[in-house]
Amino acid sequence: MGEAGEMRKGHLVLVPYPAQGHVTPFLKLGKLLHSYGFHITFVNTEFNHNRLLSSRGPSALDGLPGFRFETIPDGLPPSDESKTQDVPALCDSTTKNCLAPFRELLLSLNDSSASSNVPPVTCVITDGVMSFAIDAAKEFGIPDVLFWTPSACGFMAYLHYHELIARGLVPFKDESDMTDEFLSTTIDWIPALKNMRLKDIPSFIRTTNKDDIMLNFFVRETRRASMASAIILNTFDDLERPVLDAMAKMLPPIYTIGPICLLSRHIPPNSPLASMGSSLWKEDTSCLEWLEGKDPGSVVLVSFGSITTMTNDQLIEFAWGLANSNISFLWVVRPDLVEGESGLLPEEFFAETEKRGLLASWCNQETVLMHPSIGGFLTHCGWNSTLESISSGVPTLCWPFFAEQQTNCRYLCTEWGMGMEIDNNVKRKEVEEIIRELMGGEKGKEMRRRASEWKERAFSATMKPGGNSFLNFDRVVKEVLLPKK
Ligand code: UDP
Repeated sequence: MGEAGEMRKGHLVLVPYPAQGHVTPFLKLGKLLHSYGFHITFVNTEFNHNRLLSSRGPSALDGLPGFRFETIPDGLPPSDESKTQDVPALCDSTTKNCLAPFRELLLSLNDSSASSNVPPVTCVITDGVMSFAIDAAKEFGIPDVLFWTPSACGFMAYLHYHELIARGLVPFKDESDMTDEFLSTTIDWIPALKNMRLKDIPSFIRTTNKDDIMLNFFVRETRRASMASAIILNTFDDLERPVLDAMAKMLPPIYTIGPICLLSRHIPPNSPLASMGSSLWKEDTSCLEWLEGKDPGSVVLVSFGSITTMTNDQLIEFAWGLANSNISFLWVVRPDLVEGESGLLPEEFFAETEKRGLLASWCNQETVLMHPSIGGFLTHCGWNSTLESISSGVPTLCWPFFAEQQTNCRYLCTEWGMGMEIDNNVKRKEVEEIIRELMGGEKGKEMRRRASEWKERAFSATMKPGGNSFLNFDRVVKEVLLPKK
């Protein structure tokens, strides 16, 4: 794959939603396209660009030939850089405030009188939830492509938010609809989504307010998906075929190129971009050394991604569940993981787990999951984490927090056979038992077998020349991204 060349083939502007789970796959896509010969402008919000600079060091993002970073403001008041931004506020603000600065940016990139030798923009690749960029691209007569970073099953569910509203299921009548009984209502009419209950639909439907920001945000953004010339998805055909087939009838041409964490291995290792990371937090590398001393498949990685928060009580239940399981663990406790005051773990927990537990504030999760010592992953089921787990052949314990994590959890547990769910009202006994089952039980053994099958298929899709994702990447370049003569 890839033909690096002095002559750049076109100029692509990439616009990720400003959160870790979007910036990471976008950066991989940008690096892949750069290695294919495109000039890339990668647009961060100012807030996130500063975070990247603080976590990676100032020189890490220096302009490289044919690959530049630009920034636009997110429209929110300045806030603490060490904290994740408030998702509804950010969605509201990007929708309302980003079009104007993005239009200015496109104007300046296309200003032929300016001294920079940047070629004119030939295509905008924007996040599925940053559709304002489509409006700007259309104004300039530039083709636009959407990169939807979540799962196809999650995307399919979001595409039917308007139907859930039309059927009177959403918004919920009152708080009593939040009961298990109502959430267990079968939803069997969304094309290709199997075995679904209301609770498996992305969580933003759980509102009693018809003006809820997130509910309306997804209704709007999914409606606008049909405006794009093409849609790129970070998934692979074998994993989500029925959903993808159904989606193909509803949307512009779809190109599945995932798991992009594997596809990005085609970036030439000698490219200066190869080592450019996307972590918004500083990575703790000592956990990799710690893993070296552990038996193969003996450690559970516990990590809840970049946005999940929990109460201190939930933190304590997880802690004692881990301690009582007697299994080794590496637990990522982000500084902002616990709501309100920072989480406090009791001294007895540290004393009890000193020899077999390690806490880190952030790690290189992709590398950690690939480590032979990792045998299980307790995850919030974010889509990147899910794909990284599949790509490493590691079975999952699922504690979904929000968004389409509920849908991913359902698929991991029922369709893909490599997950078991932990109740949202987490209790130490359940955590202890489920970890033991995962690491030593019959069900765990079967999940491990299924996970390694998925790993095989993910590798075939991305790493083999005839693999679907590998071919689709080539197709989207030739059919959509290369400027038409
Ligand atoms: N991640 C990481 N180190 C950590 C925790 C998470 O590198 O300690 C990465 C993880 O590999 C994934 C991303 O952060 O690529 C999280 O994205 P995901 O879609 O899983 O969840 P989100 O953060 O969007 O909820």
